[in-house]
Amino acid sequence: MRGWSAFLAAVFLAASHAGAFDWTVVNFEGRDYVPLQDVARFYNFTQADYAYDHLQLANTVLRMQGSVNSRELYLNGLKFILSFPLISIDNRPAISRIDLSKLVEPVLRPARIQTAPARTIVLDAGHGGFDQGARSVRGNEKDFTLDVVLRARDLLQAAGYNVRLTRSADVFIPLELRAAFASNQSNALFISVHFNSGMRGDAEGIETYCLAPRGVPSSNDTNLTFSDFRPCLGNVRDAENIALATAIHTALITRLGVGDRGIKRARFVVLRDNTVPGVLIEGGFLTNAIDDVRIANPAFRQNMAQAIVQGIETYNRAVERSGAASAGTIAKGNTAPPASAAAATPGSIWTPFSNDVYALPEAAAK
Ligand SMILES: [Zn+2]
Repeated sequence: MRGWSAFLAAVFLAASHAGAFDWTVVNFEGRDYVPLQDVARFYNFTQADYAYDHLQLANTVLRMQGSVNSRELYLNGLKFILSFPLISIDNRPAISRIDLSKLVEPVLRPARIQTAPARTIVLDAGHGGFDQGARSVRGNEKDFTLDVVLRARDLLQAAGYNVRLTRSADVFIPLELRAAFASNQSNALFISVHFNSGMRGDAEGIETYCLAPRGVPSSNDTNLTFSDFRPCLGNVRDAENIALATAIHTALITRLGVGDRGIKRARFVVLRDNTVPGVLIEGGFLTNAIDDVRIANPAFRQNMAQAIVQGIETYNRAVERSGAASAGTIAKGNTAPPASAAAATPGSIWTPFSNDVYALPEAAAK
């Protein structure tokens, strides 16, 4: 009986804390930050190391790493680009409140996102017609993107999804029409497929974009501009967008064994004006000798299509648990830190976050 009363005491203790987690919010140069010490406590990280501007939070299933003055944040080795660099206040590392709310929370606790699993997938093959996109001697971006999309369509239909294509032939479709087409679908996800080109031949690897939250710069910009504060239709899906990007990017990096350029933010028209959760994949550089050979290989494009399907299924499983979420769910569009201290179980539903699924490309190859 003694065990029981100890158990009940623990339950009451937990209950009395619900909704009352005491976040420390520090304002620095006009922006709110939260000490990573608080993040560690809230998300049940049992280890926290901070030395020489490098920090690592860890528990049995999850490892978060970053550096002061850097926008790179790694979760079990997967790269995310923060909206603002980590900072150090009184020798305590801190993360911007907006990154906590718009990245850390939905990625670590996707089950709390209030949304339904998707049954319809809108696939968007980048470019088309006179708009050839990036080019290499092996082919044009517009043809490679359509090929990946048609392969993904077949796989998704076989798995029971409704699939809609913004284009199924070599035709030009304006970006605004692509976004409007997706927004007309209900219970849907939007996946745009592109390949990259760089000024320099050494740029390589895959990056996955989702819409930048309101009030943050795009990942490829450092300074805020006036237009970053303009509200976008797609911002109603901030939580879903980053969760979907995480699931898809994880699948791409682990399956394809290519360079990880990170999960990034942008305000591309197809993401900005889209009211269904969406991502834009840049599946490698046609201007890089190694990426280019890969992309021209049909087996690589089939693998990429399979990764897209895998990412969608991971996302659906992750948000399907949202029925279990009750009090303390972050309201969509709310930039406040998580309000609940209900037991966090990071990693438990995010299969990609188990250490053996990814971390090192060698481990992913099996
Ligand atoms: Zn493109």
